Order: sequence, then C-alpha cells, then structure tokens
Amino acid sequence: MSLRFPTFWFEPTPQGLFMLQVAFGQSKYYSDNLVQNVNRGIRQKLRRGEWLNLAPFGYVNNPRTRNIEPHPTKSRVVVRAFEQYAKGTHTYVSLAQFLADLGVVTRNQTPLAKVSIKKLLTNRAYLGFVKHHGEWFDGNFEPLVSPQLFEAAQKVLKVRECPRKTRKNHDFPFRVLFRCGECQSMFTAQYAHGNGGTYRYYRCTKKKGACSQGYLREDILVFQLKERLQTISLCEKYTDWMLAKINEWEQEEIALSQSDVQNLSTKIKASEERMEKLVSAYLDGDIPKASYLTRKDEIMRSLATLKAKRKDFERGENKWVEPLREWVLDTKQANFLSLSDNFSEIASFVKKIGTNHVVRDKSARFSVPAPSQFVAERRARLLSVAPSARRSSVLNSDEVSICARGGGRTHTSCDTRF
Ligand SMILES: [Zn+2]
Repeated sequence: MSLRFPTFWFEPTPQGLFMLQVAFGQSKYYSDNLVQNVNRGIRQKLRRGEWLNLAPFGYVNNPRTRNIEPHPTKSRVVVRAFEQYAKGTHTYVSLAQFLADLGVVTRNQTPLAKVSIKKLLTNRAYLGFVKHHGEWFDGNFEPLVSPQLFEAAQKVLKVRECPRKTRKNHDFPFRVLFRCGECQSMFTAQYAHGNGGTYRYYRCTKKKGACSQGYLREDILVFQLKERLQTISLCEKYTDWMLAKINEWEQEEIALSQSDVQNLSTKIKASEERMEKLVSAYLDGDIPKASYLTRKDEIMRSLATLKAKRKDFERGENKWVEPLREWVLDTKQANFLSLSDNFSEIASFVKKIGTNHVVRDKSARFSVPAPSQFVAERRARLLSVAPSARRSSVLNSDEVSICARGGGRTHTSCDTRF
C-alpha cells in the first residue's frame, strides 16, 4: 500500500516511511511556529492597544491602522443607550425598543434580545479596553463612553439585578414574634389574595399537629397591637412630668447617698473607738470577761453591717433611678408608637417590652411588666378626666396622685412598685 499526494508519494518501503515522518515533522514545526507567531502578534497588538478582531457595535475596523475607531453614527447610538439606561427608568426590553427605533435591530429585524442589551451595557470596549482570554487590557482607541456614564449605568444594572424576592422575608416585621394560642406553634407570614387584592397575613405554622386557628390580616394585627400599646402608654404631658421628677429624685439621691456614706463612715469610726475603749477597759481589769465578750460581739457585728452598707453605697447598688427612667421612656415610646405606622418599629418595641406573645382566635396578646400593667389599670381613671382635652402643662393633684401616690415616696415603696 502506498500514499499518493499531488506533490509527494510514499512507498511502503523504509525510505518511503522515513520521508513520511520527515513530512509530518515539517508540518508540525510549521503549525507550532505559526501558533507562536500568532501569539507573538497578539501580544504585540495588545501591547500597542489594538483591537484584536471584529469591531464591537459602535466601532469600525480600520485596516490601515489595524485598530478600531468610532463609527460616525452607531457610536452616538451607543452613547444614547448608556445615557438612557443610566436614568434608571428603562428595562432591558424598553431599551431594546428604544434602540430598535434608532435602527438597531437583529438580522431578523426584531429588537435586540435582553442578553444582547446586557452585553452592550457591560462591554468595557466602550471604556477603551481590549479583551483577550477573558482579561481586559488598556486599548489605544477612542472610548465611546465616559467612565462616569459607564459606572452610572452599572449602578442601575446592579439595582435591577437584585431580585425583589429576597426582600419579602424581611418584609414581615411580626414574623416569628407570636406563637399560636392553641397549639403553641410559631406564627409565620405570607401574602394571600382575596377581596380583590393582595393582603399580608400571619398564620399558625401548625408544626405541632392539627390546629383550627385561621389567618390574621396584618393591618388587623397592627391595629390590635397599637390598641394594646395605647393602654400601657401615657401621654407626653405625664411622661415628661415623670422624667423631670426622676431627674429631681436622681439629684436628691446623689446628695443623699453622699451624706449616707458620710454618716456611715462617722458611725464606723465611733464603733471602732468604742471597741478600743472596751478592749483597754478589759485589759485594765475594769470589766469581767463574760460581759467584755458579749459587748465585743455586739460591736463587731454592727461594724460589719455598717461597713457592708458603706460598700453598697459606694458601689451604687441602691440605684433604682435608672430602671425607673428606662421604664418611663418605654411608656413614652409606647404612646408614640400607638400613633405610628412604622410596623418594624412597633414589632421590635412589642418584642422588647412584652413577653408571652400569643395569637388566638384572631386576636393578639402579650404580657407586659408589672409597672405597665399598673398603668393599664389606672388608664381608665386618667381617661375619665380626659387629659388630652386640657392643654394646661400643670398637672392637678388627681393626676399626680396616679403617678406618685400624692408624692409620698420611700425607697422601699419605689422598689416594689417599679
Ligand atoms: Zn396553631
């Protein structure tokens, strides 16, 4: 068997096989060399910043310079496309339509596909860059779009690409706040259609088996929470008065604790002196051992108590002002939120002050701390004197007695009440 080509033929002899191998070797050398030369050419072109292949839309290849240059009309279309998109009012489809109106269409005379629009808007060639093997290099041709305009378009692209769906989970502020009053499962949230619209609902997850509880519409839930906040709130006139009173008490308390520490120190010193006298009296043999021991025990124990008390005062462990002020501020906030429509703030506040949040039979409940419960109980009386109807900034004795029980106050009564 022999191989015959127009210019060569190879006989199945040792010489023929040798010649064939030589021919193969030569062609391999030729193609390797070509690859190297082409690569060298590409590298040189890249180094010179020249465009490597067919010009992108908006440019034309210039065989003389072996580079690309802006097309007289198409380049302006590219700029218009970027300007339009950077306004943020266009979608891919509407921009494709806009370009179609300017004569930019596919081969089938239809508007460009979404993917082509995206390619156009992200093409760094318009910034004057050259692409090779997925890497961008500095080009040596005129950019069509300014970096500012390009970045403005990228910003819009980024916003548009954020899927709306991910936001939905965070859109339900009262999710995982309430439990079902029937089966103790967590409540979850969802959109549901009905009555000719889409509503936001909260419902039992029914994770713990059968449960007969239905859906609770968000606006109804919020209405109930605001009503509840209303019952434990006081109008600003009251809370501001309380805050002013607390400031007064705080000043008194500081003065008091300073004088308390002073008092205690005097007492401790006196006890220590008594102890010294007792010891010397005993040593002098003026008192019997038994009564000495009894007296000593008394003084030592009272000294220990006094010293512990002084330490407490110095460490500020008798501070009741701060929690009280915090509670009044919460009460003020409850009033503010009961008139607000900021759902997420209402949710986080209800979470903070309440415990045991439960929904049962379409009504939401939560427990509040004892002082707020106290307010809720007293609210009825406050409402009967209709505080909002009167504009006076001075409280009458009725109103004051509700907050401070006629001003009577001791440490212990405050501790138990608040
Ligand atoms: Zn349930």
